[in-house]
Amino acid sequence: MDTEPSRTTEKLTQRKTAPTMCKHQPPCPTAESADREAAHLVAHFPEQGWSLLCNGVLLFEDTGELLPDGEIIAPHRPLGTESVTAAA
Ligand SMILES: [Zn+2]
Repeated sequence: MDTEPSRTTEKLTQRKTAPTMCKHQPPCPTAESADREAAHLVAHFPEQGWSLLCNGVLLFEDTGELLPDGEIIAPHRPLGTESVTAAA
């Protein structure tokens, strides 16, 4: 049983990106990419108001996000037809 060190190194170099749960083909956007929300849902907790994407991003109901490295993305709910009525 002799393993080829050179091959192993080659493989390691290719997979130097942070490990994610993503097993999709083509791979989903990473947590660092701008379209991270396009990743697949791996868990959905509507009663708690959040979802987990396969790139490790926590997506909240109010469109806020928590990245795997702890960075918080403020909610960016698109300004739609529903106008927010502020109590006077
Ligand atoms: Zn994925």
